[in-house]
Amino acid sequence: MQIAFIGLGNMGAPMAANLVGAGHQVRVFDLVESAMATLEEQGASRASSALEAAEGAEVVVSMLPAGAHVKALYLGRDGAEGLLDQLSSRPLLLDASTISPDDARLVAGEAAKRGLAYLDAPVSGGIGGAKAGTLTFIVGGDADAYEQARPVLEAMGKNLFHAGPSGSGQVAKICNNMLLGILMSGTAEALSLGVKNGMDPAVLSEIMKQSSGGNWALNVYNPWPGVMEGSAASRDYQGGFLTDLMAKDLGLAWELALESRASVPMGSQARNLFALHSAQGNGGLDFSSIQSLYRAGESS
Ligand code: NAD
Repeated sequence: MQIAFIGLGNMGAPMAANLVGAGHQVRVFDLVESAMATLEEQGASRASSALEAAEGAEVVVSMLPAGAHVKALYLGRDGAEGLLDQLSSRPLLLDASTISPDDARLVAGEAAKRGLAYLDAPVSGGIGGAKAGTLTFIVGGDADAYEQARPVLEAMGKNLFHAGPSGSGQVAKICNNMLLGILMSGTAEALSLGVKNGMDPAVLSEIMKQSSGGNWALNVYNPWPGVMEGSAASRDYQGGFLTDLMAKDLGLAWELALESRASVPMGSQARNLFALHSAQGNGGLDFSSIQSLYRAGESS
């Protein structure tokens, strides 16, 4: 298939590389020149604009930071037209970014008015999953469009879910990430308490993994440096899933709770923790660096 891929960041770059690896013709665009150069070396072709990448493609995949970027791409911004008004062809539109369900429904609605299908298809599984092609895709939108997207999704992911109509993929993803934010901060809190009381963090982690406190953060993303080889914590929290992106997702959960009059006391606690951590200058570090918030004044 001829596929356009817009947004070659921590997640998008390995996802696009997997599409190339699966034999698709991939044309990429990112604002960062070096990101495109790397994909070109891996067999993709490079475009000079999102429109050039998307024109003539059968599928357009976007993997951008937040809703504002996704709306700008498809709907336009500051008087400039977006892809929906510029495209002369009719590709299937597949946005894998995590954005609000309202933004996803807005773009899907505008796309539908122009006879285009748009799926919200946020992912779970992190950079490890993106590289290995084992991401979970949580898709909202038309069932026929979902079936049409399957071969593309299967080249990048292992578990595919059709969550329901437009926006449902984002709702499910936001619920998941709210839980992840709670689990990561709770795990960091428990580790800090143990270490302050003489425990070795590796020993404590192993005990909790095998006990009722076991969870994904402990199993595959331990926040304490040196406990888990290859974890973000063991490389000074560089790369990974950024604190600012987690703060964004917890903000989306908070907005969703306000709109639906749901009560999310644990989620709002986690949002405040990650917002504070970001305000202290850690927005560009992996989100497991929330551990350092609990370690302040450790030696005193
Ligand atoms: P990132 O910041 O690493 O990458 C975003 C990329 O988009 C950058 O390369 C940037 O240059 C590019 N970009 C921004 N505006 C653009 C535009 N107008 N045109 C072309 N390119 C543009 O972010 P990421 O970690 O890859 O995350 C992307 C999305 O996936 C986010 O919504 C995030 O919440 C979600 N997500 C991330 C992870 C993770 O582990 N990093 C996991 C699941 C979901």
